[in-house]
Amino acid sequence: MTTTTHNSCDPAFDFAALSKSGVRALQPYQPGKPLDELEREYGIRNAVKLASNENPLGPGPLVLERIRGELGELARYPDGNGFALKQALSAKLGVGTAQLTLGNGSNDVLELVARAFVDCGDEVIFSQHAFAVYPIVTQAVGARAVVTPAADWGQDLDAMRAAIGDRTRLVFVANPNNPTGTWLTGAALQNFLDAVPSQVLVVLDEAYFEYAADGATGATGYPSGIAWLSRYPNLIVTRTFSKAYGLAGLRIGYGVSHPQIADLLNRVRQPFNVNSLALAAASAALEDTDHLAHSLQANAHGMAQLTGGFESLGLEFIHSAGNFVSVRVAVRDGMSGLDVYEALLRQGVIVRPVANYGMPEHLRITVGTAAENARVLDALKTTLVVP
Ligand SMILES: *Cc1c(COP(=O)(O)O)cnc(C)c1O
Repeated sequence: MTTTTHNSCDPAFDFAALSKSGVRALQPYQPGKPLDELEREYGIRNAVKLASNENPLGPGPLVLERIRGELGELARYPDGNGFALKQALSAKLGVGTAQLTLGNGSNDVLELVARAFVDCGDEVIFSQHAFAVYPIVTQAVGARAVVTPAADWGQDLDAMRAAIGDRTRLVFVANPNNPTGTWLTGAALQNFLDAVPSQVLVVLDEAYFEYAADGATGATGYPSGIAWLSRYPNLIVTRTFSKAYGLAGLRIGYGVSHPQIADLLNRVRQPFNVNSLALAAASAALEDTDHLAHSLQANAHGMAQLTGGFESLGLEFIHSAGNFVSVRVAVRDGMSGLDVYEALLRQGVIVRPVANYGMPEHLRITVGTAAENARVLDALKTTLVVP
């Protein structure tokens, strides 16, 4: 019998060489810096985090009550089919329950689409400055990412359509996009969908749907992709409870599609990919329309506060339909977005550097509470305005 002991110092032993080539080349997703990490590293208290597009109000009281009600059942597996939540979503969205795929966050659904439909050597199209998860799920399945240039920070649908070739299996469109906040109109998207061959899947990522659909963001012509599903069977719309519903920590989102696509996605997902607290919380969140309205109103006020503050400081920003805004901060000689990010960290304010999105002069700032927004504006003033 042969026994082998593996020694990490043995140069002949290289796990990277064993890994799939797409995985080896992956750049891991960079999350926002956690609050307690900043407090630990910088010895700062009362830091604020406006880095991950979380709802500053958190979940509403009904959600918290339902979660407490679930605690006695934690030893049991969750409902692997998410029956009750699918019923609620079906009624709300006017789609069949067979069209729904629940995910451990909508990220999970994005990955399921790639795993179910995209093979090694296929091509996946998305735009420059698009959400960082698209390149990750593309590369992880060994496919080739085709990145089209942005136009005025937004996704250029003409360029995306022109990039479609024989190997194209999937196109990711974010509406609105993160980190730019730019949105596409219903007319532009329908023209695009009309031109996409039916064997090419289109994922329309509507993670910020509730904000963008709220008139207060000024996203004129902003559509709901769900209304088009019967017309475009190759369309998959994804949404999440992480943003406007304030449940990012519980991880729950969903896809809406042709039932056959949903069936295939359900075959590749883990049997219990959504946990019981998340299922209970999401159903309650859909019922608590007051809390959602309150969250949207707070976002509209906060967005006006932030953008008004940027204007006073003479900073350019990209008009956003979400709960975040990217602002150009590299306005002083030799100072990059990352330098400003670090200067803000030292003042106890975490925002998101976006150099990895091809935006080295910008920072993405999540709309927080009025007090948090004031903190970030003060810190920007201290950093950028020469006294
Ligand atoms: C936040 C976000 C998501 C989803 O996040 P989950 O927490 O996994 O639901 C998806 N797409 C975009 C563009 C996002 O910004």
